Amino acid sequence: MNFSCTRRRFLQAGLIGLGMVGLPGLVRIGSAQEVRLGYVRPAPAVFYSVLANGNIRCELCPRQCEIMDGDRGECGVRENRGGKYVTLAYGNPCAVHIDPIEKKPLFHVLPGTGSYSLATAGCNLHCKFCQNWEISQARPEETHNFALSPEAIVQAAQKTGCPSIAHTYVEPMIFYEYMRDIARLSQTAGILNVCHTAAYINPKPLEELCPLLQAACVDLKGFTDTFYRDLVGATLAPVLEALKILRRQGVHLEIVNLVIPQYNDNPKDLAAMCTWIRDELGPLTPLHFSRFYPLYKMKQHYPTPLSTLEKAREIALQQGLRYVYLGNVPQHPAESTYCHNCQQLLIPRRGYQVGEIKIKNGACGYCGAAIPGIWSKNREKGEGPRKEA
Ligand code: SF4
Repeated sequence: MNFSCTRRRFLQAGLIGLGMVGLPGLVRIGSAQEVRLGYVRPAPAVFYSVLANGNIRCELCPRQCEIMDGDRGECGVRENRGGKYVTLAYGNPCAVHIDPIEKKPLFHVLPGTGSYSLATAGCNLHCKFCQNWEISQARPEETHNFALSPEAIVQAAQKTGCPSIAHTYVEPMIFYEYMRDIARLSQTAGILNVCHTAAYINPKPLEELCPLLQAACVDLKGFTDTFYRDLVGATLAPVLEALKILRRQGVHLEIVNLVIPQYNDNPKDLAAMCTWIRDELGPLTPLHFSRFYPLYKMKQHYPTPLSTLEKAREIALQQGLRYVYLGNVPQHPAESTYCHNCQQLLIPRRGYQVGEIKIKNGACGYCGAAIPGIWSKNREKGEGPRKEA
C-alpha cells in the first residue's frame, strides 16, 4: 500500500512553521525574540451585558460568569476593566504549529494536508485528564506568546501551503474574537476554518460563528452529567445543544469520545450516546473513540485497554453509526475509512499517514455513494453532510 502522506511533508512543514510552548510532542521552533512571556493585547470582547450593580455578565459560554471590576471570568482571559469588557486572548497565541489535519482528528476534511493550528492560553473547562493543561489552565500572562494578528496568521497559513486553519489545543471559544477575525480573513483567502472544541458555548455566539466555520471536531466527553460534573467541571446539556446547532448550520461535524476506563466506558451509556448521535446528527457522522493515557490529574489511572475501545466501536456500529474510528491505536484497521455503502477501503491510514485516497468528487470511487466531508478546497458553502448525508 502506498502511504504517500507524508511524514516528510510534515517534517518540512514543522521546520517552516512557528513554534509552540508547552505541548508535548510538538516541536518548538523560533528564537527567543519571537515569543514574549505574558504578551497580551487587550481587545474588545463580545457577548456580555452590564448589570445594575456595575458588574459584567459574560454571555459567551454557559457559565455566564458575573465579573466585578478588575476581575476575570473562569476561563482566565475575559476581564471587566472599569465597566468595559475585554479579552486578553487576542493576537497572542502561545501555541502555533502545522499539524496533519488527521491529528485534530478530522478524517473527512482534506485528508493528508497540513492544518495551521493555534491556541491562546485559557479554557472554560477544567478536565482532569487534559493533555494540554499547561496552557489551558494558565492565564495569558503565564505563557510565552507570539504577537500574531489575524492577518499574520492567514498570511503564514498561505505561505506554508496549509489549506486550513485550526483553532485547537485549548477550548477555542474562549478566544472567540480572535478566531472570528481570523476566519473572516481566511474566507477571502480561500482557506478553511476548522476547530477542535468541547462545544461549551451559548447558542447565540455559536450561531454567529457557524457561517465562518467549515468543520468542527467536537469532544463529547461523556454522556452523563455525573461525568461532566466530576471530571470536566461542566454540564452535558449545552454541549448537546451546540452539536445540534452545528449540524443544523451545515458545519461538517466529527465527534471525539475519549474513553476512560471505569468513568465513561459503561456499555449502556455508550449505546445511549451513539443512539443520540444517530438520531440527532445522523448515522454518517464520524465518531472517533480515542484511547486515554494517564495525564495531569489522572496520572494514577490506567490507559484504556484495546478491548474496551473495540467494544465501544462494536456498540456504535450496532447502533447504526457508519464511520466509527479508533484513535491513539496506531496501525489498527479502524484508523482507516471504509465506504458506508459498499465497505470498500477509501482512505487507508497508519497513524497520521494517509495512503491512496479512493474518493472522487466527494463520492466513493467504487460504488459512487456520496461520502460526508470536505474533499476539495473549493467546497461551496452548503455542500457537505446534512442530517441524512
Ligand atoms: S467565556 Fe469565560 S468569562 Fe465568559 S462565561 Fe465562559 S468562563 Fe465565564
